[in-house]
Amino acid sequence: MGEAPQILTLDITSNGHTVKHYKGTLSSVGSRTHLIQTEPSFLDPVHFSLMGSLETPTGAENGSAHTAGNGKSPSVEAVDAPSEPDASKRRRSSVLPLEVGTRVMCRWRDNKYHPVKVIERRKVPNAIPNDYEYYVHYTEFNRRLDEWVKLEQLDLNSVEAVVDEKVEEKGATGLKMTRHQKRKIDETHVEGHEELDAASLREHEEFTKVKNIATIELGRYEIETWYFSPFPPEYNDCLKLYFCEFCLNFMKRKEQLQRHMRKCDLKHPPGDEIYRSGTLSMFEEKHSEESYNLACILTLPPYQRKGYGKFLIAFSYELSKKEGKVGTPERPLSDLGLLSYRGYWTRVLLDILKKHKGNISIKELSDMTAIKAEDILTTLQSLELIQYRKGQHVICADPKVLDRHLKAAGRGGLEVDVSKLIWTPYKEQS
Ligand SMILES: [Zn+2]
Repeated sequence: MGEAPQILTLDITSNGHTVKHYKGTLSSVGSRTHLIQTEPSFLDPVHFSLMGSLETPTGAENGSAHTAGNGKSPSVEAVDAPSEPDASKRRRSSVLPLEVGTRVMCRWRDNKYHPVKVIERRKVPNAIPNDYEYYVHYTEFNRRLDEWVKLEQLDLNSVEAVVDEKVEEKGATGLKMTRHQKRKIDETHVEGHEELDAASLREHEEFTKVKNIATIELGRYEIETWYFSPFPPEYNDCLKLYFCEFCLNFMKRKEQLQRHMRKCDLKHPPGDEIYRSGTLSMFEEKHSEESYNLACILTLPPYQRKGYGKFLIAFSYELSKKEGKVGTPERPLSDLGLLSYRGYWTRVLLDILKKHKGNISIKELSDMTAIKAEDILTTLQSLELIQYRKGQHVICADPKVLDRHLKAAGRGGLEVDVSKLIWTPYKEQS
């Protein structure tokens, strides 16, 4: 479909004098040429009519355009300033409002522009017609960063007006995704839902595509949410929820929470306290029939990057060791979950390999650490420490290489003091 973009420089002239100089990128799709990015921006109202599809020259008398670089000059003519306001409006209305599925650059919290896909749009209340806010997915980032953005955060010069062949035949100007783009989107959102078939996945995506609750208040903190959450329908219009930090009951209004807090008598999680070290306590509530030693790690945002997640992983393996069983986390792991686990496995296994003299097998490593053999194998393979020699797998443990990997894996979290773990495994209780 599209050819390689060409660099275009464009001078707007008036009475023979250059009044503005632009550098932009042109992309050809079929018979159409699109201006996909310019410097400086064409967004000021005078030159806005240059945006989007340029296949129809718009009656310029003094405009001049030439390509720099490969010399293949697409025929583009510039509108002389000042342009007719009607033509400008027509151009703008052909792009706006942006269609769901449109790809465009968006200014993020780092003040830089990143590629996004429009997931949903909604009218801005009490605003001019066709004034929309857009819910966007940053294609380089995890879905937790999806958010509502204002039109001014979007660089309309970068709108990818890729038109399907079919649509073009009909002469429509709507912005459509190519088959390739559609496939890419499907891939993006499959993560963590491999068990769903295509139809259920689409339904699930449609239902969960927009975050419903924007923030929660929990204890001393107001916390931004990461993903959609399935609350009952009566919470549909609710942007913020108030949580009791002890029993996790949630309410729509602050006054309701204050009333609740006066009578809530829970001051610790349910279950038996099995570990206490300093201000850190662990509670046991439920027995798992499966061999998973950890189902879910959650560190609330105000407490992140303090070593609690790593502590939870280490703690789960201490429980497995006490049980005399190997353990493994429940799958699938999230992106952050896998990162934490890979770090833990690397630190534990490579520490042993560094100190160990002589041969050691995966089974021995598993017995020492309670880490499942498969997890040991994939970790060592990902670090390229396993070699296949004379028909068998061999662990290569060059101390320098081990040190390099250990450094990259970072430090462990809060220390688990095993002497403070007071717990009887489930089986032995009966
Ligand atoms: Zn409560």
